[in-house]
Amino acid sequence: MGILRKTKNLETILDIFRQSNEALSANLLFERLHERMNRSTVYRLLERLEDDGILHSFASMDNVKFYALRQDCISSGDVHSHPHFQCTSCNQVVCLEQEVVFPTLNRMRIEEAQIFLKGQCNSCLSQ
Ligand SMILES: [Zn+2]
Ligand SMILES: [Zn+2]
Repeated sequence: MGILRKTKNLETILDIFRQSNEALSANLLFERLHERMNRSTVYRLLERLEDDGILHSFASMDNVKFYALRQDCISSGDVHSHPHFQCTSCNQVVCLEQEVVFPTLNRMRIEEAQIFLKGQCNSCLSQ
């Protein structure tokens, strides 16, 4: 982890992530900032937060890069990954808490895994 200088912009971005509980793309984040920051600052800060392990990123099925706060994983040395979910009605993307642990493969080493699920979120289902 690098040494993270807490700037006001950085705190603003983190607050948006903390309050929303969703994963956000740079564009979505930019919209929520209501032009309080320019686009290149948003990209730069997202990258820095990811480098510092505060955010993690993943790609949606349409290859949009999303960022979300990193949760504490129960690290056991095995490759594990939490799935990501996108609602096809409201488009909201969230991290799922369930962790998936991958089996050890013969003569192969998994370094990364990604599971992306699509469907209906709770609030869209109950409408
Ligand atoms: Zn939904
Ligand atoms: Zn996630």
